[in-house]
Amino acid sequence: MRIIGINVFRVDLPLHEGSYKWSGGRSVEVFDSTVVELQTDAGISGFGEVCPLGPAYLPAYAAGARTGISELAPHLIGVDPTELGLVNQLMDQSLRGHPYVKSGLDMACWDILGKAFGQPITTLMGGSYGEDFALYRAISQDTPERMAANVGKYRAEGYTKFQLKSGSDVETDIARIHAVAAELRPGDVLVADANCGWTQHQAMCVAAGVRNVNVYIEQPCLSYEECLVVRRHTNRPFILDEVIDDLKSVVRGYGDQAMDVINLKISKVGGLTKARQIRDLCVSLGIAMTIEDTWGGDIVTAAIAHLAHSTPPEYLFSATDFNSYVTVSIATGAPERRNGRLAASLKPGLGVEPRREVLGEPVLAVR
Ligand code: MG
Repeated sequence: MRIIGINVFRVDLPLHEGSYKWSGGRSVEVFDSTVVELQTDAGISGFGEVCPLGPAYLPAYAAGARTGISELAPHLIGVDPTELGLVNQLMDQSLRGHPYVKSGLDMACWDILGKAFGQPITTLMGGSYGEDFALYRAISQDTPERMAANVGKYRAEGYTKFQLKSGSDVETDIARIHAVAAELRPGDVLVADANCGWTQHQAMCVAAGVRNVNVYIEQPCLSYEECLVVRRHTNRPFILDEVIDDLKSVVRGYGDQAMDVINLKISKVGGLTKARQIRDLCVSLGIAMTIEDTWGGDIVTAAIAHLAHSTPPEYLFSATDFNSYVTVSIATGAPERRNGRLAASLKPGLGVEPRREVLGEPVLAVR
């Protein structure tokens, strides 16, 4: 099987809640998502999606995804998309770094692999654990009172895991964590995600201020070294996200006992192939994972579901249903949240069928 054509689409994904706010005054109102279609000489097409969390979250931005794909696409014409090791080696040899650029292309290859063998990606990644898995809900940054009020709203949608966007001033963040924690019920999980927003001394103050609260601390500071200092001085369970961007960073963190949980985002590490490598390593090492992506619509949500559903539940800390945050559906067949939980499609590949009327005409076509 050979790739004979690559189409790239751009789609806007507005948010039901109007905006999504996190540390450092960063926010997004409308997500700019990129969908790729790989066409093959076997008549099978595969789809992938990449959607950075704006341009200021990771070294990634939406137009950069499309520019990078235009750079890589000519190299992929004539390649067998089911040979994922070779595809990834070729992408890494053709374009150094830029993992997010490769994510949608790799995802589309997995979609083709599943369709070619008549199996859902979950099966190709080891099989489904149980009927479904639990999701977390991100609580956009706001006043302590309004963030606490959102817990009840999201619990009514079935969520029991809540990720609080923090990372501003120490007093406000301590107040946010206490206010939200007061709304928790037994079995609920609370994470305070600073998204690199605290300096080391601020993080130490917040950690001390919540030492008696049942809360996980996620990515308090910008650098790995700062996070490690905080980790070594707090009694709270610890999650690393932004600084975990490849397999080597997981190995380093494991060696330093730098985290209890990692946040594994598909595009941050370069696609499903590399995310699966990291997932399997973390299971072997005993590190739990939140499995998600930087953002996305139905296609990214489907990919998350396959990776998460094929992860042993004791190591799946949580996952995200991004398609419920946005107002636009870009594909049919994508998993939909039921009582705060999600299940991967049982259909071959990703199990989604893109809505051509939503994608429109390709912004780039390579033959
Ligand atoms: Mg995070």
